Amino acid sequence: MSIQSRVSELRFVVSADCTILQDSTDPEFREYCKRWTDIDRKIPAAIVLPRREKDIQNIVQWAVESSIPFVTKSGGCSEWSTIGDDGFIIDLTLYSSVEVNAEARTATIKGGVVQKEVALRLAEQGLFTALGNGNVVGVTGFALGGGSSITNSITGFGSDQIISARLVSAKGELLDITKVSQPDLLWAIRGAGHFFGLITEVVIKAYPLSLLGSENGTIWVGAFVFPLSRAEEVANAMKILMDDDHYATSGLMMVMAPPPTRTPSLVVSARYIGEPAKAKEAYAPLYGLKPLVANGSQVPIQNTSDGREAIGAKGDFKHFGIVGLRRFDSARFLQSIEKWKELVSECPDAINTAFNFQWDSRPVKKPDFESAMCLHDTRYWQ
Ligand SMILES: Cc1cc2nc3c(=O)[nH]c(=O)nc-3n(C[C@H](O)[C@H](O)[C@H](O)COP(=O)(O)OP(=O)(O)OC[C@H]3O[C@@H](n4cnc5c(N)ncnc54)[C@H](O)[C@@H]3O)c2cc1C
Repeated sequence: MSIQSRVSELRFVVSADCTILQDSTDPEFREYCKRWTDIDRKIPAAIVLPRREKDIQNIVQWAVESSIPFVTKSGGCSEWSTIGDDGFIIDLTLYSSVEVNAEARTATIKGGVVQKEVALRLAEQGLFTALGNGNVVGVTGFALGGGSSITNSITGFGSDQIISARLVSAKGELLDITKVSQPDLLWAIRGAGHFFGLITEVVIKAYPLSLLGSENGTIWVGAFVFPLSRAEEVANAMKILMDDDHYATSGLMMVMAPPPTRTPSLVVSARYIGEPAKAKEAYAPLYGLKPLVANGSQVPIQNTSDGREAIGAKGDFKHFGIVGLRRFDSARFLQSIEKWKELVSECPDAINTAFNFQWDSRPVKKPDFESAMCLHDTRYWQ
């Protein structure tokens, strides 16, 4: 029997409102097949979109019994939620919701909810949590894999926020994962959560906006642009800034040729968390260099990634390569700028490539429990 007819059998194990897409020429199928990157993106035999937890469990049980491979997709921002026509995708988009419990300071995240949605719902209740740099990134995918956040120093990583979860195991059992019922699984899903089953729900911690140190839940977000010829001065000023944990600065220093002019530049995309009046003081070493562009303003925490829509867009051949570093080394950073220049001059279509150095002047907050996330000592990323 062909895989197509076998997947058709799924209709007998799920509710009538579960969508099963099998025609790869259908516009709806093509829409749900889109991913953040087209690298290695495959076309599955089917995309199954359940609306109920019981259906998710039935689908997993059926796939295990039928020996048909599948992958789970939440936000679709990785290179891994794709499978070829020998398998199918369980897409959690239609099983998505956020419920905030303001009193308990928790949020229950179901299915494929994306970061912007969670940030908005929490902010309505005067709360925030550890979220990353992309509005369209799935919160579950982010938190299960560790999740480096813009509030690392206040909240810890995304995986540190997981209080409990519900998981469909490889045997098709639906498990409640708490520190009492499944301590080992809870340890594992906090950082290595993609490998232990299909997570239908996570309950995460939330924090009052007042912890951001501004009155209205805002943080300072700004940008400084320099010509590449000034890289040495900028790197030296950044070294001072990154090593000064008196101010909570963080962000990205990027070697890039941004559109529309494509002038090779050093762009510092900067954040400051704390008393708004001190942001300028914190970035004095950069203002002192008189950048080509220097802008910044207080932005509500839920809107801090709004300027990055282009980076979050689906499609095209994109890839992040990331390594953690112990410190910022100006000389090595200058060497990587030379590599970037060489790359772009030898391969002109690499013009969209950027080399970034991400820093946080303050260490990541460590949780009071052990988990599979082992990168709490890393606060610099290249
Ligand atoms: C624009 C952009 C910005 C980013 N910014 C950050 C950042 O600031 N910090 C950071 O740490 N990371 C960041 N990332 C990386 C991102 O966190 C990971 O790629 C994450 O895995 C994406 O999750 P997703 O749900 O969107 O992706 P998906 O492709 O849907 O899923 C990712 C992986 O998790 C599995 N999975 C999905 N849902 C479940 C589930 N319910 N149960 C079990 N497994 C599941 C999938 O099979 C796949 O292997 C960013 C990525 C992009 C594209």
